[in-house]
Order: sequence, then C-alpha cells, then structure tokens
Amino acid sequence: MHKKPQLSKPCILVVDDDQATCFLTTEALKKEGYKVVVGANGEDAVHLFKQESPDIILLDVEMPLKNGFDALQEIRQLNEGANVPIIMITGLDDTISVDKAYGIGATDFITKPINWSILGHRIRYILRANHTFLNLKHSESSLANAQRIAKIGNWEWDVQSDELYWSPEIYRIFGLSPEVDSSTSKAFMRLIQREDIMHLKIALGQAKNGDRRFSYERKIVCFDEQERIFIVQGELITDQDDKALHISGTVQDITERRNAEDRIIHLAYYDTLTGLPNRQLFQETLTQTLQAEDYHNKLAALLFIDLDRFKQINDSLGHSFGDKLIKVVARRILNYLRKSDLLSRNHTNADGDVARIGGDEFIALLTHLEHKNDAKTIADRLIEKISEPIQIDGKEIVITASIGIAFYPDNGDDFISLLKNADTAVNATKEQGRNNSLLYTLAMSKQSEQKLTLENELRKAIKNNELVVHFQPQIDTATEKVIGVEALVRWVHPEKGFIPPDAFIGLAEETGLILPLGKWVLNEACHQAKKWQESGLENIKISVNVSSKQFLYDGFIDDVKEALTTSNLEPQFLDLELTEGALMGDGTEIINRLEAIKALGVTLSLDDFGTGFSSLSYLTRYPLDTLKIDRSFIMNIGLSDDEAIIKTIIGMAHSLHLNIISEGVETEKQLDFLRQYDTQVIQGYLYSKPLIAEEIAKFIAEFNLSTGAHEEVQPQRGNKSGIQQTSAAAN
Ligand code: C2E
Ligand code: MG
Ligand code: MG
Repeated sequence: MHKKPQLSKPCILVVDDDQATCFLTTEALKKEGYKVVVGANGEDAVHLFKQESPDIILLDVEMPLKNGFDALQEIRQLNEGANVPIIMITGLDDTISVDKAYGIGATDFITKPINWSILGHRIRYILRANHTFLNLKHSESSLANAQRIAKIGNWEWDVQSDELYWSPEIYRIFGLSPEVDSSTSKAFMRLIQREDIMHLKIALGQAKNGDRRFSYERKIVCFDEQERIFIVQGELITDQDDKALHISGTVQDITERRNAEDRIIHLAYYDTLTGLPNRQLFQETLTQTLQAEDYHNKLAALLFIDLDRFKQINDSLGHSFGDKLIKVVARRILNYLRKSDLLSRNHTNADGDVARIGGDEFIALLTHLEHKNDAKTIADRLIEKISEPIQIDGKEIVITASIGIAFYPDNGDDFISLLKNADTAVNATKEQGRNNSLLYTLAMSKQSEQKLTLENELRKAIKNNELVVHFQPQIDTATEKVIGVEALVRWVHPEKGFIPPDAFIGLAEETGLILPLGKWVLNEACHQAKKWQESGLENIKISVNVSSKQFLYDGFIDDVKEALTTSNLEPQFLDLELTEGALMGDGTEIINRLEAIKALGVTLSLDDFGTGFSSLSYLTRYPLDTLKIDRSFIMNIGLSDDEAIIKTIIGMAHSLHLNIISEGVETEKQLDFLRQYDTQVIQGYLYSKPLIAEEIAKFIAEFNLSTGAHEEVQPQRGNKSGIQQTSAAAN
C-alpha cells in the first residue's frame, strides 16, 4: 500500500556544487515558505535524501564525487525514492543531459540561469501534480485490493474498435496472463461455454440497443477444470447523439457466495444426520403436489413413521449408536419406498417425499394410490423392512416401528391437517401395542382430545387439591396385626367424580406430571403416618408406590429425604414400592440409587411381581426387602397351574430372605393356600379395601384390639376385621 501523500511543510533538497546557486535557490524557496536542505555533491544527495525524506529534490548534473545522474539513479532504487519528484538542473542547451535525465527517471528539469521569480511556482505545481499522482496510485491500489478481496474485476469494451480493457483481477480470476492472452472481446467469449455465448451476446445486444444495463450469471469451467460461477454486469455508455461508445462493467467470481447460499438452503431444507429432507421441504413438496392441476380427486397418503422404544436404545447404548441406527432406518425407508416406485412421480421435486421430522420420526408421501388398503399394505411391508436385524458396532439390534396413515383428501386437504391426523393414528398404534400400522379414524381424534382434556385437568388437579390418598392395610395373619398400609392415590374430579389411579397414572407418567404427583403422595403419606403414630398407632409402616420415571428422576432421593424431614417420620416406617420397569437399564446406576435409599433407612419392595419380566436376577442383584406377589396370580389360586409358579416364587423369596406380601387376596381359599406355604402377610379385600385416613386409623385400632387380646383364637372369617367397612372404600 502507498503512503497517502501530505502537502504540509514541504521539504526541498537542493544539491549543487556551486555555492552561489545554492544560496540564491535557498533564499528564493524559503521566501515561498518551504523548508530547504542543501547538499554539495551526489553523495550528499543520497545521504540527505535518506535522512530528511524531502518532498522534492533539485539536483545539479555536474558535481564532484558523484554526479547528478548517478545520484538520481541511486535514489530511484530506494523504496521511498521511487515516487519523489526529482528535478534536474542543466545548462541551457544541454539537450543530451535532458534526454538522459528523463531516461533514468527524472521528473522534470530546469535550466540555468534559474529564473528565481518563477521557481517557487514551478515547484508548487510539480508538488501538486505529484500529490495528485500519488493519490491516484493510492486509489488504484485500494481498488485493486478491494477487487482482489471481492474477486471482482472491471472491464471496458470499446464497441467501435472492439478493444477490450481488463483489470488485472479479471486475468487472475480467469487464470490468464496479460502477456499471453489478448484482451479482445473474442478472447473473452472463448472463456465462455458455447451454449452460454448466445445468452451473453443477447445480453450485450440488449445493452447496446437501449436496455443499457445487463446482468448475466453463469457457470464457467475455468483453466483449472473447476466449475466456477461468475456474474457479469455491464452498462452502455453513449455519446450525445446516443451512439454506443463503450460498455463498461464488472466480472465477479461468486462461487463461494453461491456455495454458502446453497449450504444455507441445505441446512434450511435438509436433515443433517440423514441427509433426508426436513419437515419444511416436505411440506412445500406436498403442497405443490396436491395443488398440481392433475392431482384433483386423486388419492394420496401421509405415513407417519415412529420408531418403537428408540429412546430406550438411545439411553442405554448412547447417542452415537442411536444416530447410526437412525441413519440405517432412514436409508431403509427411502430404499424401500423408492424401489417400490411408490412415491409421487408426478412432480419434478420428488426429493421431498420422505422426511425426517424428529428424533425417531419420519414422514412419507404416497401418491396416485388406487385404494386405501394399498397404503396399509405398503406401511406393513415397510415395518417388516425396518425391523430386519441391523448390525452396528458389532452389535445386532432389532427395532420395530409404528405407522399412522392419513389420507388426502378424506383426512385433510393440506399438510398440517394430514400430519396431525397421521400423528394421531401413530399414537393410537403405539397405545395398541406398537409394531403395527393403523389408518386414521375420527374416533382416534376424539380419544386423543379426551386425553388432552384429561391431561389439562390433571395438571390443575394437583394445584386444586383434587387428589386424595386412600390406604389399604397389610395384615400379618400369623400375629393378626396390621403391620402396614399402602398409600393409593385417587382423583376426585369436580364433574366426573371418583377416578381410579389406573385411569390417570399412565397419563401422568407420559406427561411428566408423575413427578409433582408422586412427590405430593409421598409427602401426604409420610405426614399421615406420623399423625397415626402420634395418635397412638405404633409400628405402622407406610408403603408408597414409586413410578419408574420418578425413581429415575435425579431429585427423587432428595424428595424422599424432604418428606421424612418435614413429616418427622422415622425412615424405618417408610417403604417404597418399585416395579420391574424401574429396575431395567444400567445396573450400576440402579444399584447406586437403591443403596442411597437404603442408606436413609427406608425399605424397598418389588411391586406387581409376576406381571412384568419376573426376572429372578432383580431379586438377587438388588437390595430389596419385600416381594409383592401380584393379584393376577392370587386370583388363580385353585384355578390354574399358577399355583406351581406361586410356590416357586415363594420358595425363592424365602431362600433370599425376602419378606412376601400377597396382594389382592379376596377369598379364604386363597388365604389358606398362602398360609400353607408360609406367606402370612396379606393385602386384599378379604380384610379391607383401601380406606380414607380416619377410617384406616379406626380400622387398625379396632382390628388390633379385636385380635391382639386373643392371640391364639382363630380370627373370624368373612369379614376378617370384625369391623364395619365404610363408604370411603369407594373402589
Ligand atoms: P398396586 O400398587 O399394585 O396397588 C394395588 C392395587 O390393587 C390397588 O388398586 C388396590 O386397590 C387393588 N387391590 C388390593 N386388594 C385388592 C383385592 O382384593 N381385589 C381387587 N380387585 N383389587 C385389590 P388401585 O388403588 O386402583 O391402584 C392401582 C395401581 O395404581 C396401583 O397398583 C399402583 O400401581 C398405581 N398407583 C396407585 N397409587 C399410586 C401412586 O401414588 N403412585 C404411583 N406411581 N402409582 C400409584
Ligand atoms: Mg403398590
Ligand atoms: Mg401391586
């Protein structure tokens, strides 16, 4: 970059061996306001130039030590000396010296004798011209820099002479050299692919014929065989009579900008993991397809494909594994649907027919269907394809999928309504056990609306104190004493009345509401247990159900501590009932949690044993205290082969020193069977249904009283408690 020239306080170096000339020149220039530095020979000239950086030099030709020519040449070699004006002082008729001086870089000359009166004006003029020259050079180099950065070159085409000027940047961006390549319009045309020449000629012709401006964007295969994108713009310049003089314009290499734009478009329209279109592109494509004139009255289907239990895989095998799995599934969906030629064929952008719209959610559009059942057949085959075993990182895995199907035009005539209904259908599929496909029906929407309403109401129920806890006694039939109670939540809905937990616990788990709900029950139960103790009912343990979501939630152990602290209940009176669902997953993590709970002094029960995997490994691996045999087994006592299974479970629990509670005992026969195998703790309607807090207190007091005094007397059968049960046992 050139230094910007400055005119303030100009400094003049005068070099002459004639002292009189030096003196007079100095006087004349000082009067004009210049700073003057004087030298007597060529060596002084070079030395003083370096030292003073003068704005202009007056240099005599004939001098001792080093003459003016040599000094001039030496100064011009210096970096800073290239642009300084140097005026040679020569004899009047010395034309040879003048020629020589210009030849080696002098700016101008003055002859002796010097006209002192005009010397100052002359110097001022030369300085001003030099200033303008430097400014121009500076602008030129700024422009060249800017053009280089922007990859933009300018050109000017003289229409009459066909001469074409190219700025250096044009040579650079086309990979040409000014020495080899001539800058004629023909040469320019040669750069452009044959099929493009016509377009450009038309554009130029239009500019000539009145449009005046043109802009033309094209891909050009350049010298390095690379395809690059250029934009050529130009404007016609005419004379007063409107006759075309020349066209001036620019050429810009916009390859990078266009590539960046393409990347942005790609990001906006495609899923980065699978490379599939995203929801936006799908929506646009679908809208185009359905709006196409020939699509009127035709049948199309939107498939909503949702992988089953993908979250579990992601959680247990890691996100990177999950990502690889999604990629494989994406390819399977695409391959299957493309191969079967089932996707829309009727519009150009068939690219948007399968999209990934969420973690494990894909959508696909099937068009030109003959019958609705075709969509169902395709969906079911697709499920089969997806669920073929997949090898990832040396592991074999099988993932299934659920598909919901909504039809155009019956189930919606735009993307939003089709997607909503296909989503409703996929949810219904999941509720019905997954790994299947269902066609959308209106009833599904109604059901999901009801669910939504219920969810909203449940959210409010917690705040509005519509939840209550009932308690069901657990009786040790050997001692005929109530040893504990299980806390069971109920919802007293202001309009719908009493709602049992089975109708809302699942929903609460799905929506995360189980966390506040479970915490509320835990607190309520602990406070209630403490109240009973304070009223004299000692040694009553309270069992609280804990959903697996709640157990796996990080704040759970703190919630337990808080419930114990605020209620002041001693931990040995609290028991937490977990289901097998909570114990699946990372074993170490689960053991850590269980042990942290045990460390508080709280006991642990495994609830509903026999309904899930009934894995014996849980019993041996985890620090559990009690096994609760599920009602579904007890119900079958005397009726089926389950008796053998119960016997095995009991034997195993005994050998592992686990306590056993049999749940749902309703008959004497069941009780007799259980007692026969040494399992005396019973929870069931045979003794009592779940009761409200006040009734349970009464029940326990009366039950213990009625049995405790007659330890060896057999309790009365039928109504085993011997007390009246009240209406609170509403289920
Ligand atoms: P669960 O924990 O296995 O509770 C036992 C269920 O069996 C209770 O149903 C109880 O009323 C019922 N039951 C007990 N004895 C008999 C009997 O002799 N015959 C019959 N037919 N049923 C009997 P409930 O209260 O409707 O609770 C159902 C389930 O809801 C519970 O099963 C539990 O899994 C869940 N639940 C209840 N309260 C909560 C809670 O606060 N949190 C969580 N996470 N789940 C809860
Ligand atoms: Mg339970
Ligand atoms: Mg149970």
